Amino acid sequence: MKKVYLDHNATTPVHPEVMEAMKPYFMDEFGNPSSLHGYGRKSRVAIESAREKIAGIFKCLPQEIIFTSGGTESNNLAIKGIAWARKNMGRHIITSTIEHHAVLEPFHYLERNGFEATFLEPDSNGRISVDDLKNALRTDTILVSIIHANNETGTIQDIAELALITHKTGALFHTDAVQSTGKIPYEIDKLGVDILSVSGHKLYAPKGVGLLYLNKKVKIQQLNHGGSHESNRRAGTENVPGIVGLAKAIEIAWRDMDEETERLTKLTGIFTEEVKKRIPDITIIGDQKHRVPNTVSIAFSAVEGESILLSLDLKGIAVSAGSACASGETEPSHVILAMGVPPELAQATIRFSFGRLNDFSDIDYVLDALEKEVDRLRSISPLYHNS
Ligand SMILES: *Cc1c(COP(=O)(O)O)cnc(C)c1O
Repeated sequence: MKKVYLDHNATTPVHPEVMEAMKPYFMDEFGNPSSLHGYGRKSRVAIESAREKIAGIFKCLPQEIIFTSGGTESNNLAIKGIAWARKNMGRHIITSTIEHHAVLEPFHYLERNGFEATFLEPDSNGRISVDDLKNALRTDTILVSIIHANNETGTIQDIAELALITHKTGALFHTDAVQSTGKIPYEIDKLGVDILSVSGHKLYAPKGVGLLYLNKKVKIQQLNHGGSHESNRRAGTENVPGIVGLAKAIEIAWRDMDEETERLTKLTGIFTEEVKKRIPDITIIGDQKHRVPNTVSIAFSAVEGESILLSLDLKGIAVSAGSACASGETEPSHVILAMGVPPELAQATIRFSFGRLNDFSDIDYVLDALEKEVDRLRSISPLYHNS
């Protein structure tokens, strides 16, 4: 049976070049980077050259990169670390209703611990308005956190404008760039953010490694207490192979960006057009102009997204219904609901997220399976009335 993986926003396979770069650091070069002997020094050099490589690509300083265990930790360190460090300057924080749980939950935690949070609503395309942010900012606002590209819809926010408005009041700006990194090019100073989160496994590096960019002027309260790793900002022995792999993955992503963007834009464009042609009563979710090139989110009226997911799985096709983290629950995605999509349509949404191994033969296979399965599920759905 053919297998097609269309769930790259959930996780990606490690790139062969990333694997090669990491290999020596599991067995031969296994030293603890904090050790003073030769073994340790080799690991230290590997980490510091990874840091320099990433800083060169992001156009920031090496000391502004903090390595973490992934996107969730980076978001927690950013949000809680800034809130605790600035709690005497103000207790108001702002985010949006379309964030990943790894941003929403730290915000809810801070709400239970003496902070007041404002959650901005997106428009029907999933975009956050600069004016809404402007109106929400107060003199006691210390932090704004807005996702760069959404994991469920692929919608990209105008981070540069949002950060600019935020800075006028003296608040700091964080962005969860887990889904944008590797999919769209950026430079930190052009984005204008103070803090930015990246996760390795969303861009062909392994799971369990990530980074936080932190502007050198910004003080943070560390969450992990222990050794003096990462300049006293994140205690814990560094994941040396993971860090080497993350730097390689970022290098490859930026190297291949133009070519991959063109290819993925074509693939998702043709896929979307064909779905529109072949399957009636569908709704494309999210802003089609401001989106990452790999993500297509479509609602198929009168069928459960989860039923589509399971029937495609039987044909070797991997997609996601709603948020990957929420699967197992039958709750519709909070992101899609926040955009004003009715619950029954949100419930009927499938996310197709393409990646470097997908090609045109995959599209043909998926389109045939999708057309058949949606048709079959609708024929047994009491909700579907073909007009
Ligand atoms: C996957 C994801 C995270 C969490 O990253 P992990 O490395 O899996 O902890 C955070 N934010 C977004 C937008 C994501 O897609």
